[in-house]
Amino acid sequence: MLNAIVVGAGPAGALLAYLLARRGVPVTLLERQTDFSREFRGEVLMPSGIAALHEAGLRQPLGALPNLSIRTVEIFRGERRIVAIPVDGFETPPRIVPQPAMLEMIVAEATKAKFPGFKLERGVTVRDLIYEKDRVAGVHADTLEGPRDYRADFVIACDGRASAIRKRAALPQDRIMQAFDVVWGRVPGHFLDGRTARGYIGNGRLLIIYPSPEGHMQIGWVIDKGAFGDIKKLGAEGWIGALAPHVSSDLRNFLAANKTGPAHPFLLDVICDRLREWTVPGLLLIGDAAHPMSPVAAQGINVALRDAVVAANHLGRALVMHADEAMLDFAARNIQAERWPEVVTIQDMQQLGPRFVMSNSLLGRIVVSAPMIAFAKLFLAGFLARRFDPFLNGVTRVVMEQ
Ligand SMILES: Cc1cc2nc3c(=O)[nH]c(=O)nc-3n(C[C@H](O)[C@H](O)[C@H](O)COP(=O)(O)OP(=O)(O)OC[C@H]3O[C@@H](n4cnc5c(N)ncnc54)[C@H](O)[C@@H]3O)c2cc1C
Repeated sequence: MLNAIVVGAGPAGALLAYLLARRGVPVTLLERQTDFSREFRGEVLMPSGIAALHEAGLRQPLGALPNLSIRTVEIFRGERRIVAIPVDGFETPPRIVPQPAMLEMIVAEATKAKFPGFKLERGVTVRDLIYEKDRVAGVHADTLEGPRDYRADFVIACDGRASAIRKRAALPQDRIMQAFDVVWGRVPGHFLDGRTARGYIGNGRLLIIYPSPEGHMQIGWVIDKGAFGDIKKLGAEGWIGALAPHVSSDLRNFLAANKTGPAHPFLLDVICDRLREWTVPGLLLIGDAAHPMSPVAAQGINVALRDAVVAANHLGRALVMHADEAMLDFAARNIQAERWPEVVTIQDMQQLGPRFVMSNSLLGRIVVSAPMIAFAKLFLAGFLARRFDPFLNGVTRVVMEQ
């Protein structure tokens, strides 16, 4: 039986390894962390990502994870609420699911189902590719016991936005320059009813706060690119204090009351790009390794999960059929072809929001003004819902082959 190595057990790698193993492919999943509670990397699952997990047959275990659906999104400008948008009317509402729990669930399901070919090795950092006759034939890695080589018929890199494999394969990329970064932090306790998310806009600023099922409020503070150094110097309490002038008094009071408990703010250095080619002979890159997404509209996890389903369809079939090298590479090219329209559409859409919300220009201020938002709500609701549907449901149909 042909075998595969998947590098990186984030959403893309964990789900892909699970799905390949379910098809009977011997697959080794290599993850540099020893547990999934590594750094915070988002937790908003859109209907598109939830559908991918359902397609993968994980509906029941996903439903059993700690999760929370937001009922209302309120947009404020300082003290004034501009609009309250109900978001509980969706058939599948967006859900907040802690990412470590989701990843543990996926690999536990593979182990529980006793897929004979599934193997997860934690604490393994891939350093380089092994080539044989101009074809990728495995990876060099550092394990907890020392350096080791892993060989496979096909390698799939799911090692995220700082992908070492992307660097080694030296694939050309198109970068979309970003003008902002995001500072993330959390404050213990629940604000409001525990089901409401808020966005504060104005003066070229954006603050997002939403409840987590783990009993805290998650805060995202959008800043000019490169400005994190000054915030870091403030420390956790100082940072919370610096947010106060930008929010309404009820949130200011909540933050003041919980000022001593927040975790240290940390930086998401926002990048958004895509490789022109996701594959070379013997190797495919998917998820953030191929196309790191902007954080706008919380798309990265969802697009990565959808990549995994499509990759499992094409590569799973080829590996199970004992396809020759040319057929394996053809399958990899088909994965990029199938995923490309969605990735490009969503990345392009992600560039629009910050241009207006973060802009302090007159046009930007008009676009996010209360009368404009009220006008859009009354007269453009249907158009906007269609326009933003790709953020919720994706662009293409992603279905798991049986
Ligand atoms: C602060 C933050 C908040 C975010 N919020 C959201 C959100 O709410 N919703 C959303 O959809 N997206 C969000 N994102 C984006 C989302 O996290 C990513 O787009 C998504 O996780 C990509 O999945 P992936 O599997 O491709 O890569 P990753 O999740 O990055 O997984 C890569 C994995 O590879 C491992 N790895 C890396 N290098 C190596 C190596 N050399 N050897 C072995 N293993 C390696 C890493 O440890 C990691 O486990 C957020 C990102 C950040 C940073």
